[in-house]
Amino acid sequence: MGEHRREGIMTDTDVAVVGTGPNGLAAGVTLARAGLRVELYEAADTIGGGLRGAALFDTDIEHDVCAAVHPMAAASRFFREFDLAARGVELLRPEISYGHPLAGGRAALAWRDLSTTCAALGPDGDRWRRLMEPLLEHGEAVVDQLLSGQRGLPDPRAALLLAPRALAHGLRARGGGFAGEEAPALLAGVAAHVMGPLPSLPGAAVTMLLGHLAHSSGWPLPRGGSRRIAEALADDITAHGGVFHTGRQVTDLRELSARTVLLDTAPAGLLELAGDRLPRGYARRLERYRYGPAAGKADFLVSGPIPWKAPGLGRAGTVHLGGTAAEIFRQETANARGEAAGEPFVLVVDPAVTDPGRARAGRRPVWAYAHLPPGDRRDPVALIRSRIEHYAPGFTDTVLAERGLSGAAYQEYNPNYVGGDIGTGAITLRQSLLRPVARWDPYRTPLPGVYLCSAATPPGPSVHGMCGYLAARSALRREFGLATPALAPPSRAVTGR
Ligand SMILES: Cc1cc2nc3c(=O)[nH]c(=O)nc-3n(C[C@H](O)[C@H](O)[C@H](O)COP(=O)(O)OP(=O)(O)OC[C@H]3O[C@@H](n4cnc5c(N)ncnc54)[C@H](O)[C@@H]3O)c2cc1C
Repeated sequence: MGEHRREGIMTDTDVAVVGTGPNGLAAGVTLARAGLRVELYEAADTIGGGLRGAALFDTDIEHDVCAAVHPMAAASRFFREFDLAARGVELLRPEISYGHPLAGGRAALAWRDLSTTCAALGPDGDRWRRLMEPLLEHGEAVVDQLLSGQRGLPDPRAALLLAPRALAHGLRARGGGFAGEEAPALLAGVAAHVMGPLPSLPGAAVTMLLGHLAHSSGWPLPRGGSRRIAEALADDITAHGGVFHTGRQVTDLRELSARTVLLDTAPAGLLELAGDRLPRGYARRLERYRYGPAAGKADFLVSGPIPWKAPGLGRAGTVHLGGTAAEIFRQETANARGEAAGEPFVLVVDPAVTDPGRARAGRRPVWAYAHLPPGDRRDPVALIRSRIEHYAPGFTDTVLAERGLSGAAYQEYNPNYVGGDIGTGAITLRQSLLRPVARWDPYRTPLPGVYLCSAATPPGPSVHGMCGYLAARSALRREFGLATPALAPPSRAVTGR
């Protein structure tokens, strides 16, 4: 595209992307496929951000350092077009998407099959069906609405389905009118993915999104671990001429010689890289951007499957530990206020349940994280081990090795997780609609040619690629006058599949 100037710098690259999390990579794919020369800069030695994996204890056993389960990558518009399956990434779907132990050795189970779930919920089965079935019938509209840039008019079908459900489940502590404990516990466990006070409208929106996906495209794990998704994205970028620079922390935007820059960073990262040149009003709004509670992670190398007491949990891809809906709401609300008391909500994944290849000769990984107060500095490993032990007596005896990452350590690992907030910004009602600040184009910053594309922009956290994709589309249109390119892999483009 010839030589260009950004703030007086002669440039020979069209676009620099800072950060190679799923959003930086999704932006890179979109921009490189549009024919632009793209260079990507990553502070860590390996690409992937939240998609990185590591052999933490044993060279044969891969652990997902951050994300492990990918309902959003199975469903988002970006990944539907990119088509992971056609690129050799196999999304393995557990028959039980998520499970939830309750007192007395019971468990509530969200089977991928809706009818099996309803049957297991007994008298609450019909109500569960009435909640989920309409969302499933219009699944694509629901997903595209909730994983959108949040600025245009809502899709009327999605709005009509989502508004009454969000109000019923987001405003009342015992929303939904279920008779038993199981269904509300399942829904509260899904709502807790927002890591904020509950019940809440954002929590209800996430419940509808992840809740119905559990019964459609599922809550899958990529065969071999999350890094496979990052590798597929990176391969596509390289195939379209993109260049990666790893081990390269960008500390000032002036280091980059590119016409346009996309930042896969937190708002705090933009302030660090260019705060002195941002208009004061915008910088102040970024300073006021709120970060949420922390994740404290534990990785275990264990000798066998988790010995869950409740039947069925051993077949669930993800397990939520939090007790009843009322207990989860109380605990999540206290946690978001910075109160460390109580039993934290814990998510547990035994990846070999879904992907048996992750286990080798009596060794397998276990992935778990707890919701902790913002900036928490405690090593969470003992806390998480005892939470699992409570529902799976004997778990501790299977542990061969373990390591904990506190919320504060997560920020050292990845500067986007400010204070351990793995959502790169609290999911309040305001910040779920107006991330990172109220602006018609949330991706564009007031600095010419500089865009934000991280999970701090709509539609927010998770591995869906939509923040990067939508930021890239905005940059293509405004900076280069280019249309959004096709993302389908060559094989699909040729066969027109
Ligand atoms: C413990 C944990 C569990 C999670 N579980 C799930 C899950 O199961 N499913 C799911 O969908 N999501 C999950 N998530 C959330 C998901 O990982 C994030 O929402 C997602 O990775 C955000 O993508 P991103 O591209 O915005 O940023 P990130 O993935 O955070 O990547 C940002 C990248 O930018 C780099 N970077 C930042 N600043 C600079 C700089 N100045 N110079 C160079 N490089 C820089 C960082 O090193 C990093 O590699 C989890 C996260 C964590 C931590």
